[in-house]
Amino acid sequence: MRKTQEPTTPRHSKVLIIGSGPAGYTAAIYASRSALSPVLVEGPQPGGQLTITTDVENWPGDASVQGPELMVRMGDHARHAGATVISDYIVEVDLSQRPFTAIGDMGDRYTADSLIIATGANARWLGLESETRYRGQGVSACATCDGYFFRDRVCAVVGGGNTAVEDALHLANFASEVYLIHRRDTLRADKTNQARLFANPKIKMVWNAEVAEVLGDEKKVTGLRLDQHQTGEQSTLDIDGLFVAIGHDPATGLFKDQLAMDQEGYILVTPGSTATSVPGVFAAGDVQDKHFRQAVVSAGMGCMAALEAEHYLIDEAAAAVLADEVSA
Ligand code: FAD
Ligand code: NAP
Repeated sequence: MRKTQEPTTPRHSKVLIIGSGPAGYTAAIYASRSALSPVLVEGPQPGGQLTITTDVENWPGDASVQGPELMVRMGDHARHAGATVISDYIVEVDLSQRPFTAIGDMGDRYTADSLIIATGANARWLGLESETRYRGQGVSACATCDGYFFRDRVCAVVGGGNTAVEDALHLANFASEVYLIHRRDTLRADKTNQARLFANPKIKMVWNAEVAEVLGDEKKVTGLRLDQHQTGEQSTLDIDGLFVAIGHDPATGLFKDQLAMDQEGYILVTPGSTATSVPGVFAAGDVQDKHFRQAVVSAGMGCMAALEAEHYLIDEAAAAVLADEVSA
C-alpha cells in the first residue's frame, strides 16, 4: 500500500531493475559494466530467497556458503560495479508508455528506458505451525537445494504435480526411502514422470492423505502425523526430511494485464531470451522460470536480461537517429 500520494521528481535510468535476488544483482553487475548506470530497487526481501536459507552447496566457486552471506557479496559486487541500489518496494508500474514508470511504496517515481523484472517467486506452504517451526531443520521447499543433506535418510514429499514427482525421483538418488504423500488417488504429474516414479523401488506412495502435523524433537524433524481421507483415521510416519512441493506463486501481481503471462502468473518470454511481450521489458529468474528455480539459473538469466536490454537500447538509439535524418 502506498503511504503517500505526493508526486516526486522521477529518478530516470536507462535500465531499471526490480528485485535483488541472484537475477536482479547479476543484471545490475552486467548493466553497470555496459556503462548503463542501472538503478536496482531491492524490494521487500533484500537479497531474495537465498537470505532465508543456510548452506548453499551448488553455487559455483563456493563448496559451501551461507545463503545470506552469498547475497551480501552479490549486492556489494553490484554496487562496486556501479549500480545504484535503492531500498524501496514497487507498488505500481505503467508499461504502456515510454519511458516506463514504476512507483515506490512511499510515492517515489522511477522512469526508465528499459526494465528488468526479477521479482522471483514464493513457494506455497501447507500452512501448519509445525511446518514453519521446522523450516530449515528438516522441512524444505527445494529438493534440488537440500536433498543432498538427506543421504541415507528417510524423506517424504507432499504434492501430486510434476515438481513433487521430480523431487521424489531426485531424492531417491540419496535417501534410503522416499514417501510421496498426495491428497488424492491420482497424480497431476505427466504420464512419463509417473512411469519413472512407479518404477523406482525406493519410492512409496501414500494416497489420500494430508499432513496434519510435522513431528520433531525441537531440533529436527522426526516424523509426520497424517490424516487419511478415506478411513478418517490418523497415522504417523517416521521421516527425517519433509519436502513441500505444492506449487509456487510468482511475484507478478504488479504486471497483471500489462505483460503476457501463463495461467499460473509466470511471465512469458521469447524462447531462448528474456524478452517479454512488451519491447524493452525483460524478465529474469524465478519470475519466468517454473522448471529450474535455482540461483545459478536466475543469475544466468539476469546476465541475459542486461545484455538484451543493452542491445535494445542501442537499437532504439539507432532508430531515433534514423528517424531524425528522415524528418530533416
Ligand atoms: P528471488 O531470489 O526470489 O528474489 C526476488 C527479489 O524480488 C527479492 O529481492 C524481492 O525483494 C524482490 N521483489 C519482489 N517483489 C518486489 C516489488 N514489488 N518491488 C521490488 N522488489 C520486489 N537455489 C540454489 O541454487 N541453491 C540452493 O541451495 C537454494 N536453496 C534455497 C533454499 C530456500 C529456503 C529457498 C526458498 C530457495 C532456495 N533456492 C536455492 C532457490 C533460489 O533461492 C531461487 O531460485 C533464486 O533466489 C531465485 O532468484 P531470483 O533473483 O529470480 O528471485
Ligand atoms: P502443480 O502442478 O500446481 O501441482 C501442485 C500439487 O500440489 C497438486 O497435485 C495439488 O494437489 C497439490 N497441492 C496443492 N495444494 C496442496 C495442499 N495445500 N496440500 C496438499 N497438496 C496440495 O504444481 P507443480 O508441480 O509445482 O508444477 C507447476 C507447473 O510447472 C505445472 O504446470 C507443471 O506441469 C510444471 N512443471 C513441469 C515440469 C516438467 O515438465 N518436467 C517440472 C516441474 C513443473 P491436487 O492435484 O489435488 O490439486
